[in-house]
Amino acid sequence: MTNRRKFVELLTLLPFSVPFLEMKAYTQAANPAVAQSSGRALDPADGSPVGGQLPDQKWKVHDRSRPQARQVVPGLPFAEERPPSDAIVLFDGKDLSRWMTRGRDGKLSEPDWKVENGCMELVPKAGSLVTKEAFGDCQLHLDWMTPTGMDASRHGQNRGNSGVILMGKYEIQVLSSYDNPTYADGAAGAIYGLYPPMVNPCRPEGEWNSYDVVFKAPRFEGDQLRKAASITLLFNGVMVHDHVELLGSTVVLPLAKYQPHAPELPLMLQGHDGPVRYKNIWIRRLMGYDA
Ligand code: MG
Repeated sequence: MTNRRKFVELLTLLPFSVPFLEMKAYTQAANPAVAQSSGRALDPADGSPVGGQLPDQKWKVHDRSRPQARQVVPGLPFAEERPPSDAIVLFDGKDLSRWMTRGRDGKLSEPDWKVENGCMELVPKAGSLVTKEAFGDCQLHLDWMTPTGMDASRHGQNRGNSGVILMGKYEIQVLSSYDNPTYADGAAGAIYGLYPPMVNPCRPEGEWNSYDVVFKAPRFEGDQLRKAASITLLFNGVMVHDHVELLGSTVVLPLAKYQPHAPELPLMLQGHDGPVRYKNIWIRRLMGYDA
């Protein structure tokens, strides 16, 4: 037994509540040492059809022959959830005052997601949420969960689908991906339609996942792309994308493509089928050295 575990077990004997210990005990119990799989097979009819050939890769967009990311059991979550002092807190568990709903027609309206028990929840038929404020280069943190009790017939892209869409254009997929195969570049943590996560550290339904994103916005000169956007992603503390360059705005098919846009745009949480809950969302503008 490690010293850390001894210490935790000793503290749990104390006659008062220690919240971070409760969280660890919960996660320890729910996370087996070896990830279990029911051996579900990939459904070829799941989600979008296959798209164009990806440059510099041997795969097409949503290639069904692309292997599923290797499953990894993540470590324990950080006990401290307080954002850094210069972060803009986009959701603190209380209200959606920093968000609006954007409908498919682009129209903005009051946010239509549910806020309950310290989380915001994507409910069926809700639109996408966008921040009132615009962001470019940023460090973003958020926690998300696909709840238990979902209809067993929902699988693949229909199980807990949402997304973190930087600048409303560049999607990191959110999906129930613990034991739910889908096309590899559409799994949780995928840069949708481009790269699967390097490994799959997704937790089971009912447990919180975290994304820590470093995003560099693309640079344009007039109509020309000068520098591609890039994403670094830690998924439950596990590196799944390492400063990878994006091909362009996420599109349905055939292939992502850049369209010039403003240096800062609102962050979006995708109103797909869900259900998905989010909490503890904060963002920091990255202003470089000596700023
Ligand atoms: Mg999505």
